[in-house]
Amino acid sequence: MHDWTKIIKATTVADPVSGAVNTPIQLSSTFNQASFDNFGKYDYSRSGNPTRDVAEHAVATLEDGKFGYLFSTGMAAVSSVLMTFSQGDHLIVSKYVYGGTFRVLEEVLPRFGIDHTFVDLGDLDAVKAAIRPNTKAIYIETPSNPILAVTDIQAVTDIAHAHGLIAIADNTFMSPVLQKPLHLGADIVVHSATKFLAGHSDIVAGAVVTDRQDLADRIYFIQNAVGATLGVTDCWLLLRGIKTLGVRMQQSSAAAQRIAAWLEQQPQVTRVCYPGLPSNAGYVTQQRQAVNGGAVLSFDVGSEDAARTVAETTTIPEFSVSLGGTETILSYPPKMSHAELSPEERAKSGITPGLLRFSVGLEDPDDLIADLAQAFAKIGGATQP
Ligand SMILES: *Cc1c(COP(=O)(O)O)cnc(C)c1O
Repeated sequence: MHDWTKIIKATTVADPVSGAVNTPIQLSSTFNQASFDNFGKYDYSRSGNPTRDVAEHAVATLEDGKFGYLFSTGMAAVSSVLMTFSQGDHLIVSKYVYGGTFRVLEEVLPRFGIDHTFVDLGDLDAVKAAIRPNTKAIYIETPSNPILAVTDIQAVTDIAHAHGLIAIADNTFMSPVLQKPLHLGADIVVHSATKFLAGHSDIVAGAVVTDRQDLADRIYFIQNAVGATLGVTDCWLLLRGIKTLGVRMQQSSAAAQRIAAWLEQQPQVTRVCYPGLPSNAGYVTQQRQAVNGGAVLSFDVGSEDAARTVAETTTIPEFSVSLGGTETILSYPPKMSHAELSPEERAKSGITPGLLRFSVGLEDPDDLIADLAQAFAKIGGATQP
């Protein structure tokens, strides 16, 4: 079955009682047990809920995995996966990992004796060299935020498995319709479902998918024990959002490809980061492991002043954090997602003062290009007498 069909079938699961085509929102914390000796499938909604079950199954289906788990946010999903590790364990993590994941690894896990090394996963020798006797996992995120650096998922998961480690992949930026890390050897996939999966900038949510029963058991144990589960109404909104994932990703990634190619031609733009461009260092790997370059790109307009001009004079994009909505979102990583890094750390990560991130929504790409063009024409204007 093709992804688009799978998406609709997995999110359209009728109520067994009424036949309602849409899964009901089962707002019940507790479930009546018909027999004193034999309890039913559900008892308490932290442990399981029928609406959440449908949404968890849908997310698993999209990733071609067997087991899905939903969490209150993407960070709750990431943290719950990381909580399956124990004191004395060591993790190898992409040095371009999402800021919230960085914060948990740096500030929270060391208090529980879980250590990590940040590595450029593009350097496979460095990955091998970072493996210690107590290393348990390699954590991948591709393409990375905000410079869209591509990691070869298969190459890294091969190294992980050759050394008895598991591989975890954050697939937020691609979504399961553009990239399926489980097919490329990943053992666990995590998502900020806040972004493309929900797709409407309405809820915050997180997802975890795996194919392995042993890992599923560990993840479910933490989900139930720690309890950062996704609320039932948000599970329904997530199901509703996912229904259009296929068409949204197709439209937004085709628009991103056009906009990226146009940006490359603009004299005001010094660098375009988009793995769908043949000029991009990750292009060949991206072509092999994903459907296309995705719906997020970033570009450098040379200076903070120029970036400010673009942010202040474009009229279509929302100037805000986050990504993956139906509306195009323009953000300025040096003051938003990566404000906590020092200027030197930002420079090392390629987050230059003129860098803007662009999450392409569902507007007409010609309108977005025209809007950027009129903004670019004003760059430098503020300094003219
Ligand atoms: C947003 C994001 C997260 C965190 O998800 P939240 O829903 O904001 O908690 C994790 N990874 C990536 C790549 C993200 O973009």
